[in-house]
Amino acid sequence: MRCSRCSKTAVIYQPYSGLHLCEEHHMEYIERKVKKELRRQTVLESGDRLVVALSGGKDSSALLYMLNKFFSVRSDLELVALAVDEGIRGFRRETLRNARAIARELGIELHIYSFYTEFGFTMDDIASRGYEQAPCTFCGVLRRRVIERKAHELGATKVITAHNLDDVVQTIMINYIRGDIERLRRLRASNIAEFIPRLKPLRSIPEKEVAVYAYLVGIPLITVHCPYAHLSFRFTVKRLLNEFEMRHPGTKYSVLRGYERLMKFLPGREEHPRLPVCERCGEPSASRICKVCEILELMKGGSK
Ligand code: SF4
Repeated sequence: MRCSRCSKTAVIYQPYSGLHLCEEHHMEYIERKVKKELRRQTVLESGDRLVVALSGGKDSSALLYMLNKFFSVRSDLELVALAVDEGIRGFRRETLRNARAIARELGIELHIYSFYTEFGFTMDDIASRGYEQAPCTFCGVLRRRVIERKAHELGATKVITAHNLDDVVQTIMINYIRGDIERLRRLRASNIAEFIPRLKPLRSIPEKEVAVYAYLVGIPLITVHCPYAHLSFRFTVKRLLNEFEMRHPGTKYSVLRGYERLMKFLPGREEHPRLPVCERCGEPSASRICKVCEILELMKGGSK
């Protein structure tokens, strides 16, 4: 098949738009969209220290590659990478090897922090307790805390994560299904006063398109998967959304657009006071005791 923009061979087809793109036009398309998202989400200022959450997977590696491509000419901006080792045997070591390799190749400073050092236990320890909630529930809460705290220590002015369209739409659907309007509202408020502003430049790019970009720029494909992923509710939602997308191309974009339209009718941050703080650790929290402290308490006890 030929590229819809030139006569070269296409490397990707976008079923939702009908476009076929060659290597050059696909890369150009992705980079243009990422720049547009960045402009939409923030104004980069001189002196900004951008901390990128790097897992070593295709999304965060491709994002770091792009950000370095865009900003290496700007001596007034600094890019730093931060990785979290949750302690998942047979999985994280592989992706961290990739993270180190890409950071070294791009000449970007990388800081790695582990759950074990920060909390005294690993994700494998949590999973071995056999709690009713899926391991991902704990993992997400703890990872967010490590990223926020360490980005702060690193002097970040903005935190950049590699959530792609699939991730964002899965989160929206999970909250719709649970009827969790407060979380849906908070999703939109990436610039809550208590936290360092968060940017998601890949939020409007489908996972498959990021994967093709990563492949084209030579980022090694990780073939190992987290052994706990299939236990999560997100996994089920992801499977269903992929099925919808296959039968009805454009579903994921339509969920995202619908969410953005709906959010205009919900109160924004300005109508809500600052978040209260957790009584135990003093970190911002929507409840009296934050989720991290609840997990720490739970892990102090024996098995379930
Ligand atoms: Fe953590 Fe779940 Fe991701 Fe595994 S799949 S790294 S447990 S959030």
